Amino acid sequence: METIHKRLDQADRANLGDYEAERAAFTWDGARALLDGFPGGGLNIAHEAIDRHVASGLGDKVAIRWIAKDESRHDFTFADLRARTNRFANALQSLGVRKGDRVFCLLGRVPDLYVAALGTLKLGAVFCPMFSAFGPEPIKARMSIGEAKVLVTSEALYRRKVAGWRAELAHLTEILIVDANGAAPEGTRDLAALMGATSAEFEIARTQPEDMALLHFTSGTTGRPKGAVHVHGAVVAHNVTGRYALDLHPDDIFWCTADPGWVTGTSYGIISPLTNAVTMIVDEAEFDAERWYRILEAEKVNVWYTAPTAIRMLMKVGAGPLAGKDLSHLRFMASVGEPLNPEAVVWGNQTFGMPFHDNWWQTETGGIMIANYASMDVKPGSMGKPLPGIVAGIVEKTGDGVREVGRPMVIGQLALRPGWPSMMRAYLNEAERYNKCFVSGWYISGDLAMRDQDGYFWFVGRDDDVIKSAGHLIGPFEVESALMEHPAVAEVAVIGIPDEMVGEVVKAFVALKPGFEPSDDLNLELLGHARKRLGPAVAPKVIAFRQNLPKTRSGKIMRRLLKARELGLPEGDISTLESDEK
Ligand code: ATP
Ligand code: MG
Repeated sequence: METIHKRLDQADRANLGDYEAERAAFTWDGARALLDGFPGGGLNIAHEAIDRHVASGLGDKVAIRWIAKDESRHDFTFADLRARTNRFANALQSLGVRKGDRVFCLLGRVPDLYVAALGTLKLGAVFCPMFSAFGPEPIKARMSIGEAKVLVTSEALYRRKVAGWRAELAHLTEILIVDANGAAPEGTRDLAALMGATSAEFEIARTQPEDMALLHFTSGTTGRPKGAVHVHGAVVAHNVTGRYALDLHPDDIFWCTADPGWVTGTSYGIISPLTNAVTMIVDEAEFDAERWYRILEAEKVNVWYTAPTAIRMLMKVGAGPLAGKDLSHLRFMASVGEPLNPEAVVWGNQTFGMPFHDNWWQTETGGIMIANYASMDVKPGSMGKPLPGIVAGIVEKTGDGVREVGRPMVIGQLALRPGWPSMMRAYLNEAERYNKCFVSGWYISGDLAMRDQDGYFWFVGRDDDVIKSAGHLIGPFEVESALMEHPAVAEVAVIGIPDEMVGEVVKAFVALKPGFEPSDDLNLELLGHARKRLGPAVAPKVIAFRQNLPKTRSGKIMRRLLKARELGLPEGDISTLESDEK
């Protein structure tokens, strides 16, 4: 697919101007110097996100514009956030919560969630967000692994999902209800009442860069979720990657659509925008194409960070709801979480006058590692180039370790040289699993990719999802992207199924756009289209139509589940499964 040239009006004002020059000049110490810190080398995420700005005169600036389900909007300035998070930290302290204690949160995207996150960090306690849509078991499992001391939640969520088993968790001493209205259920506390009784002043804990700050569970796409430990020092990466990869400027209105229940919603839905002192939009409601376009227009969003699943849903709805909308404030669009099909990048360019800028990272990396920048041409389907300060490589196995592949366009493990500040410090209680990630001085990501002659990285598939057929390695992404080009296809997932002759053959599961019905003719047409685009060795041999594809709650297609069902194997950990297509 053709390169989409950078837009000069965007490139001229981009934070990252000349990629090579910025990379050459970059140091993590320099990035650290953009922040305050405390005398003696201390660093606290919440200080950098809030109090630093209030001290420099930005107290009246809107930090969070919260849009409630009913579409009413509520503004919180940096000064408001400072006072509320101070009260929250004081409330925790009054309950005996100490540095390092784990504070879990089970809330929808309501203001209390943001106050809890930053107030917890101010105290030096560890914040652990969970999706509010999780069922009781995944909640219990995470809180048990994380040794939760405190849970911040709503009355309804508490009654439905926690009350039944809370006595089983010995560490869990406090449950704080955000909407108790003076009548907290037995054994819980009314958070508003607690906060009302405390001071709006609090001395932020003098945390050190290596002190634990966040515990994030991975999405569970490939198996049992892992608890990735992150430290306060990560804020250096959150801040600078927001400037580079999302091109955040001080006057921007920024909207990250991710839920803080997964890492994007925390790193780029809380910490990065606030440390960069932009105004961030939080929408309480779930995806709705018309609502999203209304928000983009009404809030004059400049920078929009979303995910392939949402983009594919927008493509499915079509441009109808955009008619008459003025999105002239939109300057930069980015995407993360899954491979972004070239088709979606081009659609963005046609529909919004700019491409979606794909970027790649993981819960483990804490922040964006590889990205497409406003100042660089976009090759649709590529994840872009490593951030300044990040060394990425494609590595292959040797007898006793790995080594970097020198030649372009060779498939290998996507690997990173450890040492950036937002790298995980552990998988909680899983030292062996953690140690396995590091080989020959590289962090091995578990994703397969290629690098082209210009230094752009191309996602191939997860290690577990790659298909081996007649001596070829087939990346599901390539096959899926080819099928996505067909006008009938809304979504597609590809797996390998065992075959005596060639090892594995490709099978595709396809969900159709509105107006298309499954039929033998369409099946043949899609098979033909794929064969023409990919050649017979790579094209799917079988296509099955599905209403929906199984996804995690963070919107990732669970190919392993399609495969397990296809082969009649155990489904494994499905604690993060959202839509079930059975
Ligand atoms: P688990 O590790 O529990 O199986 P997960 O890997 O989906 O779940 P996350 O850390 O939320 O958990 O997701 C990171 C993964 O998402 C990456 O390793 C990669 O497979 C995929 N991913 C993220 N961004 C991109 C992207 N731009 N292109 C392709 N894949 C991406
Ligand atoms: Mg993973």
